[in-house]
Parts: sequence; C-alpha cells; structure tokens
Amino acid sequence: MPKQFDVAVIGAGPGGYVAAIRAAQLKLSTVCIDGWKNAHGKPSLGGTCLNVGCIPSKALLESSENYERALHKFADHGIGVKGVTIDVPKMQARKQKIVETFTSGISLLFKKNKVESLHGFGRFAGRTPDGGYQIEVHGDGAPETIEAKHVIVATGSLPRPLPGVEIDNNLVCDNIGALSFDSVPKRLGVIGAGVIGLEMGSVWRRLGSEVVILEALPTFLGAADEHVAKEGFRQFTGPLGLKIYTGVKVGEITPGKNSVKVEYDDRDGKKHREEYDRLIVAIGRVPNTSGLNVESVGLKLDARGFVEVDGACRTNLPNVYAIGDAVRGPMLAHKSSEEGVAVAETIAGQSPHVDLSTVPWVIYTAPEIAWVGKTEQELKAQGVSYRAGQFPFIASGRARALGETAGFCKMLADANTDRILGVHIIGPFASELISEAVVAMEFGATSEDIARIVHAHPSLSEAMHEAALGVDKRTLNI
Ligand code: FAD
Ligand code: NAD
Repeated sequence: MPKQFDVAVIGAGPGGYVAAIRAAQLKLSTVCIDGWKNAHGKPSLGGTCLNVGCIPSKALLESSENYERALHKFADHGIGVKGVTIDVPKMQARKQKIVETFTSGISLLFKKNKVESLHGFGRFAGRTPDGGYQIEVHGDGAPETIEAKHVIVATGSLPRPLPGVEIDNNLVCDNIGALSFDSVPKRLGVIGAGVIGLEMGSVWRRLGSEVVILEALPTFLGAADEHVAKEGFRQFTGPLGLKIYTGVKVGEITPGKNSVKVEYDDRDGKKHREEYDRLIVAIGRVPNTSGLNVESVGLKLDARGFVEVDGACRTNLPNVYAIGDAVRGPMLAHKSSEEGVAVAETIAGQSPHVDLSTVPWVIYTAPEIAWVGKTEQELKAQGVSYRAGQFPFIASGRARALGETAGFCKMLADANTDRILGVHIIGPFASELISEAVVAMEFGATSEDIARIVHAHPSLSEAMHEAALGVDKRTLNI
C-alpha cells in the first residue's frame, strides 16, 4: 500500500521547501520530494538557491569585496595593510560551510514541522481512484510510489543551454562551475551580461581576473530603469574594470586543454577571436519540467516548458499547483517562496494573494542595483504621467562615511494621484533600502507619505526620503 499524504511537493528549493513547511504548519500531512545531490553525491535540500545560486554567490561576493577593500579602500581610512593575499580554496570552503549550514538546516526544519523528506526524482504516475495523484520517486534504491490529494510542482529551473556548447564546469561553466573555481583565472570570458554574468564577473574581476562579458542585446540591463542601467554600465566598466561588449554575436566556442577560444562579431560586424582560461555561460534559465512525466496525467506546459498556471498558481488539473521558477514571472527565490506559502494556504482553504507587481529585484554588484515597480521607460511607453524625484548618494553623509558614494535613489510617482509607481536604486545596500519602497507600494503610499516619515540621520535611507521630497521638487540637501 503506497504511503498517502494530503500534499506532495516536488522540489525542495526556496519554493518547495517553504511550501512544505507551511502546509505542515496548517496540519496537512506533507511529503517533500527532492533529487538534488551535492558535489560529494550527497542529497542536499534547498535547490538552486541554497546549493548553487543565491547563497553561495553572495558569500563569494562578500569575500571578493573584502579583498578589494583591503587592497584599495582601507588606505583612505589611514589603515595600512601589506601583503594582502587571496586563498581561493579557503574562500570556497567558507562559502561551502555557509551553504551546508543552510541546506542541513532545512532537514531540521522538516523534522521540526513533521514534513516527510524523500530523496529522489518525482514523476507523475497517474491518478488514484479518489481523484488524487500517484507519484513515483526515483532515488538511490528501487523506485517508490506515493499518493497525494494535492501536488505542488516546485521543480525550479536549469541554465539555458547555448546550442553546440558543452558545459564541463571546468573550462566552460554554468553557474555551478562559476561558483567553484579553485584559482583565479587570468582571463575570464562570460557570455551574457545578465544578473549572473555581472555578479560572477564582479567576483572574479575583484580577485584579479581580466573579465570580458559578451552580450547579444544592443542594450545593457534592459529590464532595469535606463538611468540605473546607464550608471551601472559606467561603474562596472569604469572603477570595477569589467569589459562589457553589447550587441555581439557569439560564434564558435572551442575548448582546448587549458583554455577556451571564443569567436564573436562585435556590434559593427568586426570578427574577434579571443582566448580565455575559463568561460562562464549565463544566458538565462529554463524551467525544469521535462522529467515530470506530465503526459501521464495531462498537466499542461506552455511552449517554453513552463507549467501553465493562473494568478493563484492553479494548473489545468484539479488540486495540482505549480510555483517558482517552473512557472511564469520573475525567477527569484523570494517570489518562489511567497508562491509556496500562498499555495499551501490555498490548499488549507485560506485566500492568500501574492502581488507580483511589487516583487523587488536586486543585483548584488557593487554598487548594488535594486528596484520595484515600473521603470521610467515603461511609464513613458504606457503613457502614464508621472513625476520623478532623485537623490545622489554623493550627497548622503552616511554614504560618504562608508566611502560608497556612487549611484542614486529615484522615485516615480503618479502625476495625478502621487501614488508611488516605482523606485530604482543603484548604490550601497540598495538590497536593504528597497524594502521601504516595497512596503510603501504594497500599502498604496504616495511620495508625500514617504516625504513625511522621519528617517534616521545619518542613514542611507535618507536618500529614499530625499527622492520622495524630490518628486515635489523640494529636496533639502541637493
Ligand atoms: P529551485 O531552487 O531550482 O529548486 C528546485 C528543486 O527541485 C531542485 O532541488 C531540483 O533538483 C528539484 N527537482 C527538479 N525536478 C525534480 C523532480 N522531478 N523531482 C524531485 N526534485 C526535483 N534569486 C534571488 O532571489 N536572489 C539571488 O540573489 C539569486 N541569486 C542567484 C544566483 C545564481 C548563480 C543563480 C543560478 C540563481 C540565483 N537566483 C537568485 C535565482 C534563484 O536561485 C531561483 O529563483 C530559485 O532558486 C527558484 O526556486 P525554486 O524553488 O522555484 O527552484
Ligand atoms: P539573465 O536573463 O539575467 O541574463 C542573460 C543575459 O544573456 C541577457 O542579457 C541576454 O540578453 C543574454 N544572452 C542570451 N543569449 C545570449 C547569447 N547567445 N549570447 C550572448 N548573450 C546572450 O540570466 P542569467 O544571468 O543567466 O540569470 C538567470 C536568472 O537567475 C536571472 O534572470 C534571475 O532570475 C536569476 N538570478 C537572480 C539573481 C539575483 O536576484 N540577484 C542572481 C543571479 C541569478
């Protein structure tokens, strides 16, 4: 007799593991099935985010920023440091320890919340007589079948392949290899000037690599507000020293013994042939849904392989939901988790809601980039009349004290109602500052509301306050 559950969650990334915990909190008997194994062949919960995404990349970003500070920034404070070195294996060991603390922490959270954890790949195997679902789990031993009344598909995403290019995660890497270099490559090539290309390019540039980023689109960071993208390009190609070429057409990629040759046409059609010690391919991600055996139950995928869902993450099948990177919307960990919570609560009979229009985006470069809501170019394209206020960090006392004065905070508000439509930040701790804007937008705040709130002095949050004052052309400190 197969084991029976109220809820089976397939995938234990930030979408799936959070959904499983919330379902169990709501007294639903819950199993979470996950097939991930780490580099040592051990099951490891947490999906892309914890194993090879958000968490390890932020650990390396921090290490590389500290190295950069010691080399180039401490002197300004009168601190002399000699003989600064970087021990890459030690840096990687620190990163791995952080990863393992969190991945093993999920096992503890599952125990605490009485979520049953099954290691293996789950695939639909048919319906049960009472309208539930059978799921076959292929782990290390013989396949096991379980049954569940409700299923949450949270299988996440995989790197988009570049046709004809084989990832060996040694010379030619996706995010997994890019996070695990054992030494600093002298010359690093990156294909794709997106979030991963910029974050990982920054890490290895700061540690000493010459980094060339090849981007197919003629524009840089097209999803960001264009003023932020422009300032980012200036900072990344200037003080940081990344070489970013937009509008290129990448041609043949030929791995050799110790290096890889890359041919490309630049935006003027001129041919180039360069050689890199390592190459990172980061050209987006695709939904990881091909192993689910969706045909066995008739679960509908769209042409790109995303599970088709409505606004509440319902699929075309009764009691089957899908969340996170496997469905439409931004591929972000916090979006996956909130959808997971909402689906668990829906199954338990509650009426939750996730507002995708206020999901914050963050790019953890230095300076950081963060935004929520509409960009200025989107408002123009939609014919929305708006007013903008902007404040540069160079005029912030706290930013001066930090020695991080690049960038600005910009607020966009409806010209008629003053309701905040978007906030765009490039600057220090933008990842933290953006929360104020998210809260404001969720509560339907106006720029005047933010302008009337007392912000601590001296703090970076004053830039948000001043940007809000700027909407009404009454900034005080510029
Ligand atoms: P995933 O995290 O991909 O988890 C899915 C899990 O399901 C995996 O463990 C997978 O093995 C498992 N699985 C798949 N199929 C099956 C199956 N059939 N049976 C059993 N298990 C299965 N987002 C942010 O918000 N902030 C960041 O800073 C950030 N940094 C990133 C850095 C990098 C380098 C990368 C690659 C991504 C980053 N992301 C970041 C994106 C973030 O990692 C994803 O949006 C997030 O992990 C998606 O969560 P998920 O639960 O939907 O899927
Ligand atoms: P991305 O979509 O951010 O960027 C991919 C870039 O590659 C785009 O600029 C695209 O135009 C370019 N590109 C596509 N095909 C190309 C080609 N043939 N040649 C050259 N350039 C090409 O994707 P990513 O950087 O791979 O990251 C994937 C996703 O992971 C992100 O979109 C994001 O959702 C998530 N992520 C988030 C964070 C974060 O939140 N800080 C960090 C890393 C990743």
